[in-house]
Amino acid sequence: MSLGIVGLGLQSCNQNSGKKEEKKVSVDSVQHKIDSLVVMQDSITKVDSLRKDSITKMEANVSYSGAKDTTVLLTDSVSPRYIYLTFDDGPLNGSQYLDSIATAKGIKINAFLIGAHDKMSKKMHSYTERYKNNPLVDCYNHSYWHAHDKYTTFYSNPQTAFEDFELAEQSLGLQHKIIRLPGRNIWYVGDRKKVDLKSGASTAELLHQNGYKVMGWDCEWKINGVTGKPDLSVNQLYTQIKNLLRKGTSYTKNNVVLLTHDNMYQTKKGQKLLSDLIDSLKQHPNYRFEFMRNYPQ
Ligand SMILES: [Zn+2]
Repeated sequence: MSLGIVGLGLQSCNQNSGKKEEKKVSVDSVQHKIDSLVVMQDSITKVDSLRKDSITKMEANVSYSGAKDTTVLLTDSVSPRYIYLTFDDGPLNGSQYLDSIATAKGIKINAFLIGAHDKMSKKMHSYTERYKNNPLVDCYNHSYWHAHDKYTTFYSNPQTAFEDFELAEQSLGLQHKIIRLPGRNIWYVGDRKKVDLKSGASTAELLHQNGYKVMGWDCEWKINGVTGKPDLSVNQLYTQIKNLLRKGTSYTKNNVVLLTHDNMYQTKKGQKLLSDLIDSLKQHPNYRFEFMRNYPQ
């Protein structure tokens, strides 16, 4: 069958969009203050000796010591927090800009690729090659056919679904056994799992038994590929990510996975939004952009 790049690319992986909206908490205004404060070395040592739970508690209470001008902060500049920017459905128009943005910003990003898109044209294949040749981009498995966008049918036969991922792995020459399921936010890493829709759970089980890590996401950003209009402003998404980290409500504490899609960065507007988000996150000296292969088990 013919597989339209735009048609397939615009399919969202998310069945749960919007569920994880976080309400603004009263400490938000204080948090702005926090971000501009100086962390003194002796306080870092002091906090390092405390348990993580205590750190969270301190953040909630916004503890200070010292005089106003030399305020010492016992807060989120203390321990590393990991952010995983993940881009699904590539290679697509937009992938080449993501590759350039990762290089320009010097940050690690994660591409969950579709085998059939790579085979679509020489141009698409060249985008895959750009990703694979960029040390700041990790390439992972998002299936060969993207379930033809018929997810329930696809997952009704775990064996054929499994074979579709194997085909993508071989076709794309992938080095890591890391998968994101099309149309499902399912986690299965180590001995922990989380399932959004039961259809897909058996496939995840089979993949896990065969040594694959199945990766979901904590929050999603949607940007219209044509107009560049986002569903969340940079500030809204930035706040959402900060809240997930501060409240410890992501799938794994201190780790946040953002889902977004390659085709959303075809426009200059889309590229600017991503660039601004990265700049906002980089303001935090303890935020690290990481590869999914380093996600804790
Ligand atoms: Zn997808």
